[in-house]
Amino acid sequence: MTNISDIMNSVKKTMEAEELAGVKELIIDREKMTKNKPTKKNITLPELKEKVSACRRCSLAETNTNYVFGDGNPKADLMFIGEAPGREEDKQGLPFVGRAGKLLTMIIEAIGLKREDVFIGNILKCRPPDNRNPLPDEIAMCSPYLIKQVELIKPKVIFALGKFAAQTLLNTETPISKLRGKFYDYQGIKLMPTYHPAYLLRNPGAKKDVWIDMQVVAKELGLKVPRHKKQP
Ligand code: SF4
Repeated sequence: MTNISDIMNSVKKTMEAEELAGVKELIIDREKMTKNKPTKKNITLPELKEKVSACRRCSLAETNTNYVFGDGNPKADLMFIGEAPGREEDKQGLPFVGRAGKLLTMIIEAIGLKREDVFIGNILKCRPPDNRNPLPDEIAMCSPYLIKQVELIKPKVIFALGKFAAQTLLNTETPISKLRGKFYDYQGIKLMPTYHPAYLLRNPGAKKDVWIDMQVVAKELGLKVPRHKKQP
């Protein structure tokens, strides 16, 4: 089982190493992010995407078909972060486009938004072979991209989808069943952990919990959930 403390230590070491090597554009300035000030280097989201599409930082670059940078509104108030691309996502180069993705679209639409209104991404930008769990080193190598994405998009709320995303972003090993349903602080942004849509496909009974979490987020964003909408 992956130890989240090991992952976060690896992330820290990687970021320190990058800083020493002068790769500062991928290093988050946490204080500035919290205060919503511009970053030291004004890399744009399209430029970051280009960087990712040429990345060879971990061995997943050898086996991927496409890089899955993430997709959606670059100024979204709501950002969804999952674990890693699956087979369909790897094929199309887009996040959450398989069965779980269709369910995620329904969940987004249930609170009166469209996919184009939000930004959807993952901790890893490349598919782990056979959809295995991400390895600590892969997370450590890839995390700076996600951190920069969050810094550039500046969402008001982040939805962390599933155990890996929630535990990695919150640096905890608490089970997702205990984490979900409450807001946490992530660099000055409200973060709501909830179940991954793939988990919901296997455990439809958990959909009601995600629906509760979505309504809390909708309220936080001042969205009026359409009356005719029911739990997806
Ligand atoms: S998973 Fe991330 S770090 Fe690894 S090759 Fe892909 S983009 Fe680079």
